[in-house]
Amino acid sequence: MKRVALYARLSVSTEQSVSIQRQLASCREYAERRDWDVVLEAVDEGVSGSKTAPGSRAGWRRVIAHADSIDAVIVWKTDRLSRSTLDLALVLKDLAQLEVGVLSVDGTVDTSTAQGRMMAQLMSVLAEHEVAQTSERVKAARHALVTRGRRAGGRPPFGWRNIDNPSGPGKILAHDPERIDVVRELAQRALAGDSVYALVCWLEQTGVLPRPRRRTSLATDEPQQPEKWHTGSVETILRNPVLAGLTVYRGDVLRDDDGNEKVDESVAILTLEEHRRLVAGLDARKVGARPWGGNTAPAILSGLARCGTCLGPLHRGSSGSAVYREYRCANRKCQQRVSIKREALEDHVTSELLSRHGAEPAIHVVSTVTGERDVLRQIVAAINQTTDAMRLPGADVLELARRVEELKAEHADQLSRPTTTVTYRVSPTSLNAQWAEASDDAARNTLLKGRIERVIVEKRPNARGKPFDPTRVRIEYHEVDPAEQARQQRLIDIAHLRFRFDNRNEVG
Ligand SMILES: [Zn+2]
Repeated sequence: MKRVALYARLSVSTEQSVSIQRQLASCREYAERRDWDVVLEAVDEGVSGSKTAPGSRAGWRRVIAHADSIDAVIVWKTDRLSRSTLDLALVLKDLAQLEVGVLSVDGTVDTSTAQGRMMAQLMSVLAEHEVAQTSERVKAARHALVTRGRRAGGRPPFGWRNIDNPSGPGKILAHDPERIDVVRELAQRALAGDSVYALVCWLEQTGVLPRPRRRTSLATDEPQQPEKWHTGSVETILRNPVLAGLTVYRGDVLRDDDGNEKVDESVAILTLEEHRRLVAGLDARKVGARPWGGNTAPAILSGLARCGTCLGPLHRGSSGSAVYREYRCANRKCQQRVSIKREALEDHVTSELLSRHGAEPAIHVVSTVTGERDVLRQIVAAINQTTDAMRLPGADVLELARRVEELKAEHADQLSRPTTTVTYRVSPTSLNAQWAEASDDAARNTLLKGRIERVIVEKRPNARGKPFDPTRVRIEYHEVDPAEQARQQRLIDIAHLRFRFDNRNEVG
């Protein structure tokens, strides 16, 4: 005998709907005729079927909570589940995954039969199509807005503000006179080689505060935490392409028809070249990077080469008088630190990449959010250093303990932030062509990162001084499927779309 749950929903505002009692009665009758066992009756009253996603209704959540003990859900009509085709399709999909069938008394859906399941599948395809079409329209509207230099909504970056467009409707981005000089000074100091931590210290001395965080809920009356600067927030400011007058749009920066970045000079405070150098400097300053100091430009394999023992990053190192002749593991706790000849490794990886992907379009990694994970690693490293220091004779343990508490708080804070979203941009020209034009190691590093996830170097099997052994090197590529990327972008757009509808905002 089948065990079933009955579900009824009524939104108060809709008068012509059938009452909860009548819905349940017809569902009960439907179950009785088939001699099914009703184990649960769940109700959502006063809940809209178009504005409320099923997952946020208490009654529906009860049904899902009992998924293990029921074979099917009976509703009077499918619009009781949701009036939105998309939500309905999602509900059907969820239930299919839970192996729970759906039947409607009016007979439009019965996923307990093969035909019904096909029907449900068809509905979900239609729903996707509907969403894609609406999403296309929203995208087109946003695109038209942004390419005309207007703001498509959103909070301006620190140092900038939205002002009324002097030459038409809408808003445009402009320098925030109260903060832009701080960002200029930060950028200049970073370009001169200051570490992000030094910049945080400098900011604290100036007394300039970060903007209060956006409130997630207006309902809470909790006093707001006093804001302070973190390495993560400073990096976010410095990495933002807006410093070079670029507009971030859909995971990339806005480009003209030839694929060149569109620069808004009225917004920029650095040249493109300066900003690229600034970001490359930040990339190179990762934990354990260059403990021997000096070169801030990334090596060809910066961020890619990994120690086969500890999977930590390999950095350029010098042995004796030979400067930067090697990549090597800088992790002091590594059991067997790997080192390898630098030029030989670079040549090997490069020729492997070009022979495999050289004729294909070059791919650029575009990430608009900062490397939060690197910030996390920095914090963890700092915590380890501090706890190590506690064991030293004469250590000020209380002070160090206080420092650890601070670092832990920062760690938790960073963990709560969104992680980096990486997107890929497929270039109109081939990797071979771009490689030939690459002017420096930073540019080559960027091209390698478009295709290669990491390069793992195993420990040398025997004595030193042997010639370069390519079998020690394992190149891991990331496979980029533009179709998959496009699909993901659409999901992001759907999320935007729903957010907009939820907030009843006009597009733009
Ligand atoms: Zn290692």
